[in-house]
Amino acid sequence: ETILVTGGTGFIGRNLIPLLQKDNYNIVVLSRTPTKYEDDFYYKHVKLIENLSEVKHADIVINLAGANLSAKRWTDKYKQEIVNSRLDLTENLIDWMTHQERKPHTLISGSAIGYYGPRGNETLDENSTSGNASEFQVRLCSKWEDTAYRAESLGLRVCCIRTGVVLGNQGALSQMLLPFKFGLGGKLGSGNQYFSWIHILDHVRAIKHIIDNNSLSGSINLTAPNPVTNETLTKTLGKVLGRPTFMTVPGFALKVVMGEMAHILLTGQRVVPHKLEESGFNFEFPELEQALHQILK
Ligand code: NDP
Repeated sequence: ETILVTGGTGFIGRNLIPLLQKDNYNIVVLSRTPTKYEDDFYYKHVKLIENLSEVKHADIVINLAGANLSAKRWTDKYKQEIVNSRLDLTENLIDWMTHQERKPHTLISGSAIGYYGPRGNETLDENSTSGNASEFQVRLCSKWEDTAYRAESLGLRVCCIRTGVVLGNQGALSQMLLPFKFGLGGKLGSGNQYFSWIHILDHVRAIKHIIDNNSLSGSINLTAPNPVTNETLTKTLGKVLGRPTFMTVPGFALKVVMGEMAHILLTGQRVVPHKLEESGFNFEFPELEQALHQILK
């Protein structure tokens, strides 16, 4: 079978593709700059394309592309790019599928736990309602999911993966580590806000689990079963790194530096992977300390 991966050149895609290749899938990656990856060892056995019209057929589509949420400050212009990059491409995918004679059977499309909005201590599973639509990330995830679900009317199984903060050698963790390296690691604001995370290897294993389990559909939380408070996160990071964590980064300072995105770090949500666990998925890294040890060893 053939799997089309949009955003396959990103942090998650790079880790996902080798796992799928082990199962003998043919991989096609849609990229804005495919030539950049032609000599890349990782993409040696991958077909890189710039336009959907170059894909004759795919059995499964994994849709991960979009402007990075933490690459830039959230100006109105960048927020528009964050939204449009995802919605436009997902719409293009639906159009492309509509015109395919032999359609894919499954679409696994990106989403994030931002869907739930800031919710304090409330435990959130897939049955929880979405957050307040006044929050940017709530609107972003809802619209992204709604667009993806349009593929259901074409007969596809659609799964939207509500992803927590993915921990690995790239991504959010490297940004989080910087202050610790200078001995400035510390909790953010009150430290009570929840941090829902997942180890990159479990994230890509979960995507494969969804591919392999036809009975799974709809929105699925991709987070470890043990979310932690920001205070526990800070202490655990300090312990694993052997660095002090006595600082407290006040909320207002973070807002000055990061703008609206600070809101996500300061409010947080406690998300649990109900559907993954119910369908028998076993996490290799259910605990934060063990996950951080593996990544930072
Ligand atoms: P990355 O930012 O590493 O990669 C995403 C890919 O999207 C890039 O490789 C790029 O591919 C493409 N892309 C970037 N900017 C644009 C743009 N403006 N327009 C179109 N395409 C663009 O993301 P991750 O691998 O970390 O995550 C994959 C998806 O999962 C993302 O959509 C992200 O929002 C979501 N997610 C990730 C989390 C995380 O912690 N990593 C948490 C929650 C959700 P190319 O340059 O080849 O076109």
